[in-house]
Amino acid sequence: ENPLGVHLRAVGLGSGHVAVEAVDVTESHRLARVRRDFVANVSHELKTPIGALQLLAEALLDATEPAGAERPDLSEDLVAARRFAERIQHESTRLGRLVQELLELTRLQGAEPQPAPEPVAVDWVIGEVVDRTRTGASARRIDVVVDGERGLTVYGSDTQLATAVSNLVENAINYSGEDTTVRITARLDDEHVTIAVTDQGIGITPGDVDRIFERFYRADQARSRATGGTGLGLAIVKHIASNHGGRVEVASTLDEGSTFTLRLPARPPDDLSVIPPSVEI
Ligand code: ADP
Repeated sequence: ENPLGVHLRAVGLGSGHVAVEAVDVTESHRLARVRRDFVANVSHELKTPIGALQLLAEALLDATEPAGAERPDLSEDLVAARRFAERIQHESTRLGRLVQELLELTRLQGAEPQPAPEPVAVDWVIGEVVDRTRTGASARRIDVVVDGERGLTVYGSDTQLATAVSNLVENAINYSGEDTTVRITARLDDEHVTIAVTDQGIGITPGDVDRIFERFYRADQARSRATGGTGLGLAIVKHIASNHGGRVEVASTLDEGSTFTLRLPARPPDDLSVIPPSVEI
């Protein structure tokens, strides 16, 4: 974080002059840190009871497991109990994911030191993402295709980059119909490596495009909720991109599909540790 507590901002005056504005951000940074640490602590404390709920729901499901087919010995009450246990399992898994992603976000916002940057093979990242999303894709009969250049390298954290690209591919799968294609394309352009994820899905309205990277923002509540998403995936992608000195962009047409592009520096940074974690105020 900014040790001086001052943000300098250059403002072009249009007459060949530039004004430099100094803003005291000490208090707002302190508040952002307090809020971030609070969210991190609460999320951490929630992990244990949520884990316990999941285990209890599993135990209930095991106890009422129908052995293959029907279980005439199960009373109506037990059948109902089983249905409730399934709901508890579903909701607690969702809650667990939410807490996991909140923790991830606070980590990216600097609650923990960033790992030292290392060369990361883009082919590895894409391979990892394809593995992670295989089951979800085939359940929806979606083809995940990889093309573009091979052998590219970026610099940073392999796990964070795999998380970012997986979030994009998971979204591409979640927001597409069956029998469609999701394409992952890596390219080197000028000074950047781009990893683009293109889908033939529902698309995003121009009004929503500006907001989808905000925490908890979801374009269409009804449609989004059916995917079991948390609304944090793209906020995480945005922070990972900025922690790597890059950014994420989107181009989308409603009812036709979307392309999310992660743009990362192709050269090793002089010292990546000087890139401050992005703190949202
Ligand atoms: P969620 O958990 O809801 O998927 P995200 O932060 O990953 O949260 O995405 C925010 C919102 O952006 C989603 O709820 C959805 O409305 C929209 N969105 C994200 N990716 C896509 C996509 N590939 N196609 C259409 N809409 C998308």
